[in-house]
Amino acid sequence: MTPDLSTPIGGTSGNDSANNATRLLTALHRRGGAATRAELTAELDCGRSAISYALSDLVERGLVTVDEHPQQPLAGAGAGAGSGRGRPSHLVSVAPTSPIVIAVHLRVDTLDVSAFELGGTMLRIEREAVEPSPDVEMTMHRIGRLVRLIAEEARRPCIGVGVSLPSPVRATDGYALAPRHMNWPGIPARDLVTAELADVSALSGLPVHVGNDANLAALAEHVHGAGKDARNMLFVTTEHIGIGGGLISAGRLFAGASGYAMEVGHTTANPGGEPCRCGARGCLETEADPRALLRAAGRLDTPTTGLEYRARVVLVDAAAGDPVARKAADTVSGRVGAGLAVLVNLLDPDRIVLGGLLARLLAVAPEPLSSALHEGSFLERAVAVPVVPAALPAPALVGAAELALAPLLA
Ligand SMILES: [Zn+2]
Repeated sequence: MTPDLSTPIGGTSGNDSANNATRLLTALHRRGGAATRAELTAELDCGRSAISYALSDLVERGLVTVDEHPQQPLAGAGAGAGSGRGRPSHLVSVAPTSPIVIAVHLRVDTLDVSAFELGGTMLRIEREAVEPSPDVEMTMHRIGRLVRLIAEEARRPCIGVGVSLPSPVRATDGYALAPRHMNWPGIPARDLVTAELADVSALSGLPVHVGNDANLAALAEHVHGAGKDARNMLFVTTEHIGIGGGLISAGRLFAGASGYAMEVGHTTANPGGEPCRCGARGCLETEADPRALLRAAGRLDTPTTGLEYRARVVLVDAAAGDPVARKAADTVSGRVGAGLAVLVNLLDPDRIVLGGLLARLLAVAPEPLSSALHEGSFLERAVAVPVVPAALPAPALVGAAELALAPLLA
């Protein structure tokens, strides 16, 4: 069945029906693409006939399937199981005919392109190594080539492309303001990717959505990972160079006026510390990214290659008892805590999720981080914000898919 997305979900029978169908699809998406009918009914808190109508609409459109044989409630499906607990119920799943989106995650050293379906399920991934190069056009051609490859092999309708970039991204037009770690000037990223897809009939005219990598990772962790059910989630992460962040505020990604919000890497973590590219000193980014850990361990000898991997080795050595590596891990952990304290005072989160190297640092050296956080934030002392590691292996990629799926779930 070819999905029919030409009319609004819920048909023409009124806003309530449309809302129920969209809410049901969103609930199914947040549950990873499969849930029993009883679980969905309990979560949506509406009548059986309303659920039946919404389900039949979604089935007709080829978006979901309903198993004919009743199932026991899914294990670990959460508190939403409610009234259906213990009783068999029909299993609702994302249909194999449902549309896909294509997600792109460009890092300083790798390019990932993946197909995703509703539920946040990754269907296929292509990864290529990237050399730091000022040649924007070449990288855009590579993105275009991989998107076309993934789209052709998926053999399912594609409804959008989401792109994650290591740069603040303007919300109105997908302009990447400062992809400095790529050695790029500001670029009209959305227009460039759109142009790459223009001569492929299946992809021409598809909406292209662009976002900042850490913002998108925050979004993904909130929907599918360690930030589930948090209302105000602060996400802080580091991969190759620098530190990024994102904020979920009242359940939604906080973007600021232009989309540039949450450049948390320039929060002061060590007054008078290392000079930062932003002009200040002692920013979280210069005190707690992979370079900072390598510097603290006396291992920052080749500053641009394999930083993340070599920083991970420092943490492995610290865990194994190497005293220099241990001291480095403790120092950087304390700096992360000091930076988080500033952010907690500003943002009052109910959960902090740490990604990338910071998640590993949390596992190896949790104590200096929590001490500095307690000392630096009177708010944190009052409410004891949980600090947890990210749960998704590729959160920015999942977040790019979320961006592209959002119109279907809106
Ligand atoms: Zn800075």
